[in-house]
Amino acid sequence: MTLVTMMTAHYQDILNDNFWLPFTPNKDFRNDPKLFVRAEGDYYYDPDGRAILDGVSGLFASALGHGRKELAEAVHRQMLTLDFTASFYRGHPGAFAAAKALSALLPPGLDRIFFVGSGSEAVDTALKIALAYHRAKGRGGRNIFVSRERAYHGVNFGGVSLSGLPNNRRNFDGVGPRVVHMRHTWLAENRYSRGQPGHGDFLADDLLRLITLHGAENIAACVVEPIAGSTGVLVPPVGYLERLRQICDRHDILLIMDEVICGFGRTGRAFASQSFNIRPDIITLAKAITNGALPMGAVAVSRDIHDSIINAGGEREIEFFHGYTWSAHPVACAAALATLAIYQEENVFAAAGALSGHFLQRLFALQGQPLVTDIRGYGLLGGIDLAPAANAGQRGYEVQKKLFDAGLHLKSTGDALIIAPILVTGLERIDRLFEILTRVLSTIKP
Ligand code: PMP
Repeated sequence: MTLVTMMTAHYQDILNDNFWLPFTPNKDFRNDPKLFVRAEGDYYYDPDGRAILDGVSGLFASALGHGRKELAEAVHRQMLTLDFTASFYRGHPGAFAAAKALSALLPPGLDRIFFVGSGSEAVDTALKIALAYHRAKGRGGRNIFVSRERAYHGVNFGGVSLSGLPNNRRNFDGVGPRVVHMRHTWLAENRYSRGQPGHGDFLADDLLRLITLHGAENIAACVVEPIAGSTGVLVPPVGYLERLRQICDRHDILLIMDEVICGFGRTGRAFASQSFNIRPDIITLAKAITNGALPMGAVAVSRDIHDSIINAGGEREIEFFHGYTWSAHPVACAAALATLAIYQEENVFAAAGALSGHFLQRLFALQGQPLVTDIRGYGLLGGIDLAPAANAGQRGYEVQKKLFDAGLHLKSTGDALIIAPILVTGLERIDRLFEILTRVLSTIKP
């Protein structure tokens, strides 16, 4: 019996109430459970052996597709060589090699790498690095962070404080670092802009208003995603990020770019900051660093920030009291090294950039569908706003479930759908994705 047929036979038996699903309406899931039991290439398989096209790279992670043998072999080898050591007081070769390989992809000078276990940990670590940096420079009053409405930066306390999403803040507000918010960058007049919208660079001046209100001497860092990904794919208007960079420079405010989604080729370059030609002081990354095969994140830091913190400590003192048991986990480092090698050998980022034209053409062809109210896209990342159902904020979920039944796995957020195909996908799978999507959308009444 194959694994899949075994799963089908025991389908009901494997379900239980012990597993509490994250970011999921658990009661609805129990009524209508959806499982993946296997994945290969661009496809997931459910217990009945049905293929479901992965239109969101797992969750913006499996850029190279699923089941890559090279990664499995690298992980297997590493587990038999050095399965685990923490990186406290001890190094291991894979950590140095992974940091070096990663820094070769990053913007020049952003080459000091702090490894963590996830995107949320990367964000919270970046906030702590920003605070430690200002203290090392004798600017200890800088405790405020600037974020944006509709921002998502993970779910740890730093990330929740940065969050610009009411649902994510509810129950957890008022705890954690002090954060003030700029407006998000969605403007009605930019609807259906392909690539960067032309209008809206002035929104960066929200940072100036917050500086006037709170004082630059109290602000540590401004944190933005180059493209706000999971909250609907909000592409930065032309000139917006440049203006943020200028204001940060003028006021000694660090610019942290959260590239947990945008990193590793999603925009056609290794990092979106390169696509938009902006040099942040700190980049947070995760997800596709191991192709999603193992949990890992990292914070890339400029030499100035790194050296300021390191040099503020004495010879035998710990300079930065921070780190995780899984920081630079040897097996995750092996997965990262193997992933980064494939990105380079297969020229994956440039190939993703080359596919983008076709992807965006198919994406924007959905304009005119009765249910669709806006479309945004850049690189291999697309967002589609849908007319709300009777309950606002539920349309995305409703459509996402129908898409699953029709053989397509996408992410939804509120009344929007998000598409992020596997970077090494082909034209025909992009066409298949949009065929399923178009068909399902046309069956739903606005
Ligand atoms: N930052 C951004 C921009 C993200 O999109 C995410 C996750 N989607 C995170 C941080 C958090 O990453 P993780 O879920 O790995 O903690």
